[in-house]
Amino acid sequence: MKLFHLVVTVLLVFVLLSCGPTAEPKATDTEPVSDTIKPPANLLSGLHQRLYEAYDTFKEASITDRRFKHADVEPLLLALDTLFQVQSLGESVEGRPIYEVQIGSGETPVLLWSQMHGDEPTATMALLDIFNFFQASGDGFDELRELLRTELSLHFIPLLNPDGAEVYERRNALGVDLNRDALRLQSPESRILKAARERTQAVWGFNLHDQNRYYAAGKHPNTASVSFLAPAYNEAKDVDEGRGDAMQLIVLMNEMLQQYIPGKVGRYDDTFEPRAFGDNMQKWGTNTILIESGGLAGDREKQYLRKLHFVMILTALEAIASGAYEEAPQTAYETIPYNASADYHDLILREVEREYEGKVYITDIAFRLNEVSFNDNKSFYLRAHISDIGDLSTQYGYDEFDGEGYRLVSGRTYEQVLADYEALQQLDLGHLLRQGYTTFQLKQRPSRSLYYTKPVEVVSPGTQPANKVRLFGNPSLLLEKNGTYQYAVINGQLYEL
Ligand SMILES: [Zn+2]
Repeated sequence: MKLFHLVVTVLLVFVLLSCGPTAEPKATDTEPVSDTIKPPANLLSGLHQRLYEAYDTFKEASITDRRFKHADVEPLLLALDTLFQVQSLGESVEGRPIYEVQIGSGETPVLLWSQMHGDEPTATMALLDIFNFFQASGDGFDELRELLRTELSLHFIPLLNPDGAEVYERRNALGVDLNRDALRLQSPESRILKAARERTQAVWGFNLHDQNRYYAAGKHPNTASVSFLAPAYNEAKDVDEGRGDAMQLIVLMNEMLQQYIPGKVGRYDDTFEPRAFGDNMQKWGTNTILIESGGLAGDREKQYLRKLHFVMILTALEAIASGAYEEAPQTAYETIPYNASADYHDLILREVEREYEGKVYITDIAFRLNEVSFNDNKSFYLRAHISDIGDLSTQYGYDEFDGEGYRLVSGRTYEQVLADYEALQQLDLGHLLRQGYTTFQLKQRPSRSLYYTKPVEVVSPGTQPANKVRLFGNPSLLLEKNGTYQYAVINGQLYEL
């Protein structure tokens, strides 16, 4: 971990040095690598702790971020040990094979499917790590492997929506949300999942998703970094034995997660959705657990949440195999706070002074950062927009700035027209920012992916920048105090000048 940090630092230094004379200010919300997140020292000892500590030996090293594709996953599945049975269950709309990975010969069938939404990849990464776990031996976990293989029959369907993953989008190639296709079953991916349930007669189902990073866990300044639901199987939201079992297992998983991400677990509202897979699986007799991986500060690539999924799913499977879930108090399910949607932003400037037609107003201003795909959807850059303006005292930011006493000023356009991005990089941007210049006219505008991590906005010559504060805008701003510009906010990033 230390070494990695050092490498990052060296890279940063190299990048800064290679930018010529430019002295760039540093973004204040540089996210730490996920490896620096540590669980509290008072961890309960137990299986989950041992899995947590041994995780690195099982982590699938070829998958390092969320934007992997079917072509990255398929060879890993086809190369699995003969311990597993790997079979194609059919093809996606665009003809990509969808695989089932099966292990274990126990009496209890369990079906786990991930990424039915193409841009929700966290659990797929964890399933690949779990396959590596099953292939290892002689490391103190053989007893667990033996228990899982003799008690359970595990059916994994990783990456149910490969066409969506290809373009990093929620829906499949038909533009259909597979999670609203459980009744009509028009998409081949939906039919594959339904057929797998019929064939396996799964007693337990794990429905693995990601949710957006702006949910809070209840009315608290905590992100809903993992959310659960034991879906209802009817409008009345009745709880029969199977749904009750799912709730008990969730209680156990929540208890485990509280050791690592205290307060950052949420629960979905259980309104019955007649077209969704989770609700129908429950209706068809499978004890279904929806798990949603959300946002966590410092973990945009979700590598820490991937690790927690690895630990949580194996711990849950142990609880099913051993029957330990039966001891969990079902009523504790109701104590998990509901997800509060739209409560989070990436950056909030608190109580800044803003002038409008000669009068001064105090406002909070919030930004969110959207991922914009490029490089065949394998990479992304972040593009900001103002997500709210006003009294945001009930809202939270991954990054917050106390703007009391600061006056918000629109950035200025540098008068000289520059040839290209090379010429821009020759300028002393730090010096120019301190004079209020945020916006540069370039004859040849580079791709935003090239400069959107830097404190500059680029426009075509003669174009007026949209540097006014307005909802959904992306203005370049400065924060002035005592007659000097002390911070800049450019593309939703806060820079100290
Ligand atoms: Zn989803």
